[in-house]
Amino acid sequence: MDTKIKAWWLGHSAFRLESPSGKVIYIDPFLSGNPTTPDDQKNPDDVDYILLTHGHEDHVGDTLDIAKKTGCKVVAQVELSHLLKKHGLEEDQRVEFNKGGTIHFDDFSVTLVDANHSSSFKGEYAGEAGGLIISFEDDICFYHLGDTNVFGDLELYGDMYQPHVVAVPIGDYYTMGPQEAAICVDMLQPKIAVPIHYGTFPVLTGDPEEFKEFVAEYSEADVQMPKPGDQFLG
Ligand SMILES: [Zn+2]
Repeated sequence: MDTKIKAWWLGHSAFRLESPSGKVIYIDPFLSGNPTTPDDQKNPDDVDYILLTHGHEDHVGDTLDIAKKTGCKVVAQVELSHLLKKHGLEEDQRVEFNKGGTIHFDDFSVTLVDANHSSSFKGEYAGEAGGLIISFEDDICFYHLGDTNVFGDLELYGDMYQPHVVAVPIGDYYTMGPQEAAICVDMLQPKIAVPIHYGTFPVLTGDPEEFKEFVAEYSEADVQMPKPGDQFLG
């Protein structure tokens, strides 16, 4: 698909996106502790925004270190945002919101939507887990589902936001597995589906090939399976 944005999958739930004007956005930057992230992509120093789906360590990852190093904004659900501040995030880098809220930055906007999961950070309650809908001006809509199982509102999100690209957890055990994930894709009707949250650790057994077969059965979406570190858009 022809896009103005560039996108890399960095393994697990982590992405690097570059907006049409060149702003650098990281989603769930679990990098230094992620065994699948290539070494040369574990320490980014050119970040403008970090967007978080929820507070678990495999999603917040290197957020506080990257924020300190780069001065980037960190966008997170309100309770998680306050916990990040408690653990060192500067107030002027903190951007909090909650479900249904949309924030506009430079040439993109971010909406926090529902996900069916839990959220904590360093042993404390971190609000609710969410998904992120990122709409780029004159370009695509990218929907990162976060960690979740299938739920009925995805049908509504598909109608409302018409995402072109969806990132869907398939690893099983802590999230849905391949078949449920393919049902989500059917509900959202994107052009491209990218399986995430699998293969990072032995327990995340969901198989992307199996996901691809289920998607082919249910919908028209093109399943892309970049390797960790690979650019797949732009
Ligand atoms: Zn997770």
